[in-house]
Amino acid sequence: MIVAIDGPAASGKSTVARALARRLGFRYLDTGAMYRAVAEEALEQGVSLDDAAALAELAHAAMIAFEYAGDDPVYRRITVRGRDVTVAIRTPEVDAAVSAVARIPEVRSAMVAEQRRCAAGSDIVVEGRDIGTVVFPDAEVKVYLTASARERAARRLKDRAGAGYEATLEDVVSDIARRDEVDTTRETSPLTVAEDAVTVDTTGRTVDEVVEAIERLVHVRRP
Ligand code: C5P
Repeated sequence: MIVAIDGPAASGKSTVARALARRLGFRYLDTGAMYRAVAEEALEQGVSLDDAAALAELAHAAMIAFEYAGDDPVYRRITVRGRDVTVAIRTPEVDAAVSAVARIPEVRSAMVAEQRRCAAGSDIVVEGRDIGTVVFPDAEVKVYLTASARERAARRLKDRAGAGYEATLEDVVSDIARRDEVDTTRETSPLTVAEDAVTVDTTGRTVDEVVEAIERLVHVRRP
């Protein structure tokens, strides 16, 4: 069974998808981390974010791999051509670059092929922007997570502080708005709500409440 979780930046997808995978004993695929890994590699190699051909080539050669510890479905490390980028994909620089990389059709087709290969035949929770619409249009459960702009900004600010970055509310509000703008208006696989997705607003709700709501949807499909 595939559980697709899509939604805008900082809507709570990662926290909810990870907790849900652990609860259900499903695998977990973080597709945002894959686009982030390509963006990080581009910054590392000094590839221009305007050079679509070079970025496509880089995406094809990226050899993105997730490493796990024991039975935990949540990866411990993510590597690009063997290089550990687990921390490096979460910097403000990658936040600022990733949407420009993810809008390139050839980058997307390389990532989507890898995502389909990786999820084949599994019970898996997959989070991203185009999972229920493009990557797995036949997913048995599709959820679109949202939260108010204020709550999303507060969460991102907390993440940034936790990771040791100085940021103002203004910084995170403009980063989120800019990413959402590029992600929703790009030509290839823009972020939209799948027709058959259930929209879940996480504003003011605890992680447990949201996870339980999605678990109920899963159990309707698989009693
Ligand atoms: O989910 P996360 O914020 O880590 O995603 C980072 C970026 O990767 C998004 O802003 C978007 O540009 C891109 N992305 C995408 N398609 C996905 C997942 C992420 O375009 N399925």
